[in-house]
Amino acid sequence: MGAEANGLKAGNAVDSRTLLYCVIGDPIHHSKSPLMLNRAFRETGENGIYTAFHITGDRLGAFIQGVRAMGIRGVNVTIPHKVEIMSHLDEIDASARALGAVNTIVNDNGRLIGYNTDGIGYVRSLKEEAAADLAGKRIVLLGAGGAARGIVYALAAERPATITIVNRTIDRAEELAASVSGHTGLKDVRAVGAFGLEMACRQADVVINTTSIGMSPQTEGLPMDINVSWLKTEAVASEIIYNPLKTRFLREAEAAGRRVHGGLGMFIYQGAYAFEYWTGKPAPVPAMRETVLEALGYTSQAIT
Ligand code: NAP
Repeated sequence: MGAEANGLKAGNAVDSRTLLYCVIGDPIHHSKSPLMLNRAFRETGENGIYTAFHITGDRLGAFIQGVRAMGIRGVNVTIPHKVEIMSHLDEIDASARALGAVNTIVNDNGRLIGYNTDGIGYVRSLKEEAAADLAGKRIVLLGAGGAARGIVYALAAERPATITIVNRTIDRAEELAASVSGHTGLKDVRAVGAFGLEMACRQADVVINTTSIGMSPQTEGLPMDINVSWLKTEAVASEIIYNPLKTRFLREAEAAGRRVHGGLGMFIYQGAYAFEYWTGKPAPVPAMRETVLEALGYTSQAIT
């Protein structure tokens, strides 16, 4: 792969002061993070370079020793290491500890501090792109997996009126609802099985799909057979899948006149927060978005 394809165009000159950043996961070579973050370093003139490492579970400890030895400044952590990595760090931010997963590490002069930017990234995207004020709103979340966890915690901080978690496996929804209530003090967090979806949707201001249903290559999937006519006409249909940019759920909601919000923003903003934690500079979000859209084979006009 040439330098340009790696996002390392002129301006990312590497010298003896360049700081190293990376993403780790298993698998990892599908990740768009190196392209996105190298663009961010280039745009802001930060002397940094970002790459991807394929790290298996049995090598996590050795990897962290490497971070310490080499002074790697920042790390993003993706599936399947977001929980296991926590036991290797010196400090974990309170909200990452509460939700039980880390996706960003800051190496602060040898002290490794873990954060989670997934949920706050999603909420920043939702507020900037579709629903500016979530206070007092009724929110329905489909799914109770890893991504849902961070999102529910971040949503609770916005003080919505209610959060209803609808999941195929109701036990997982119940566990998540109890955990969020306990840690955030938000009283009205409910858990229901798929049978409760219609009633929950009829009252909702925002309905968010956090399940994997609809993701490429199974793009005709509809999570829990949701019928978009259940959503109020002014409700927002939101999604965290970004491949395709518009899932069947969003396409049907848009055709029925509902406002829609796609999953790309969550990916961009989780990276933007990581960039900001590492550098202290505002992330160049439009440039980052442009790079990811190009990498996915779209033009910047493909999504608004
Ligand atoms: P996960 O932990 O495996 O959770 C999957 C969720 O989907 C669970 O709630 C699961 O329900 C539900 N589900 C799976 N198959 C189902 C089916 N046939 N019918 C009904 N429900 C089903 O996965 P995750 O890490 O949370 O990721 C979920 C999706 O979010 C993926 O598509 C991922 O690509 C996307 N994502 C996007 C971003 C972003 O930056 N935009 C970030 C993270 C994840 P059960 O509990 O009943 O199994």
